[in-house]
Amino acid sequence: MPGGKPSAYARPGTRSSRQAFPTGGLTTVQQQNRAPLPSKKLTLTTEIPTRKDGASHFLQVVYRNGLYLHGDLLGDQELSLADEGEEERLSRLTQVDAARLAGLSRPSVANYAQRMRRTVLSRNALAIRGTTGYAIGVDFGVTHRTRVALSNANGKIVRVLPKEAKLGPQTPSEALEAARREILSLLKQYPEVTESELIGVGIGLPGPVKDGRLIGPEARLWRGRDVAAELQEMLGWEDVSFVTESDTYLSALAETLWEGGKVAKNNLYIKWSGGLRAAIVIQGEPYIGHSGTAGELPHIVADPDRSERCEVCEQPGCLHAIAPLPVISGRIARREGGPTKELLRASQIVARAQDDRSTMAELETAARAIGRAIAPMVDAVDPEAVIIGGALGTRAFPLLSDAFEMAIKNNMARSQIKVTGGLLGHRTAVSGAVALVLERFAPAYLRRVAGI
Ligand SMILES: [Zn+2]
Repeated sequence: MPGGKPSAYARPGTRSSRQAFPTGGLTTVQQQNRAPLPSKKLTLTTEIPTRKDGASHFLQVVYRNGLYLHGDLLGDQELSLADEGEEERLSRLTQVDAARLAGLSRPSVANYAQRMRRTVLSRNALAIRGTTGYAIGVDFGVTHRTRVALSNANGKIVRVLPKEAKLGPQTPSEALEAARREILSLLKQYPEVTESELIGVGIGLPGPVKDGRLIGPEARLWRGRDVAAELQEMLGWEDVSFVTESDTYLSALAETLWEGGKVAKNNLYIKWSGGLRAAIVIQGEPYIGHSGTAGELPHIVADPDRSERCEVCEQPGCLHAIAPLPVISGRIARREGGPTKELLRASQIVARAQDDRSTMAELETAARAIGRAIAPMVDAVDPEAVIIGGALGTRAFPLLSDAFEMAIKNNMARSQIKVTGGLLGHRTAVSGAVALVLERFAPAYLRRVAGI
């Protein structure tokens, strides 16, 4: 990535300094205390495309770059999507960058740029002024409760509710009601975000998803439900676009997009948290395969000496009975005589591992088991890098990088593989939900607002 610098404004971050938002129902929020909305006014000029697909693709690429390119890539070949003279710009990228990122030829990009410039000069009526567009992300978990996020059209996360993911199981009905409540709380805090300014709502479900519905044996209660339709009906938002993917898909998308300058576009992303799942990312897009389960980690016996049985395959010592956070949390609690049903947070487990040898050994056993399981996938996919993400993976990776690297290398055919930790932390899935909305719906939204 030329410039290599992830966007300061696009990165999901900790802009809000407010206290955690109460989640026990609708709450009156003092306007003066809320996090300010970015005041960016989008002035985007586009044209009536002659080749619809090409233009959509191009706008999508521009949006992606709005997500992760810093606005300082200036140069002679600059392609500006904002009106000249406007202080605020959506994004700037060179034609060379755009061509490479879009997979388009340089002359095609030059052609688009020239037509856009002509449009700026001759068709100001098409300029979109005074509107920004917003995206909402929702992350439903099995071991954590619902989180929602609001972002602007550039992918800047304005607010996440609740601030810290609450632990504990939830039924789909409870989760949906929490999502409805939190979304309405968000909109109450930001009254300028009206339904007509919503680009869309992205939803993450805790298992593999095909055609918007959860499939596979995990998270049984969610299986087969059209969650997007249910939430849409609960909110009464008939004209807003909704999209659903697995939380692993979304996390992989967020890591790849938001850290586009650092993370390989072809990667194998491991989400190590309440569950243990993976996504195969090809050219920046998670690949879900024929039935939607590509990248799911196999049920292999990782340690025959362990007695815990896997809930899905029922084998003792299965990878999924060793590595997920609840298993590790339960083993620590049993050893220490604490309540085993109370989940430890990933941060608590990693903190213990620093000075408790047996907790560290638990994590190393899990890392070796994960490494062995993904080695054949590394050979099959041949990615540039493996990213160990998820709530536990991101935090534990600095302690376990050697264990991961050795376990993968010792079990794969190729000789080298880069293994890195995730960068986005606990907001990854909800950030990915927002990114997916912008990817899928922003071009159509901009056209609708522009009336073209
Ligand atoms: Zn199993």
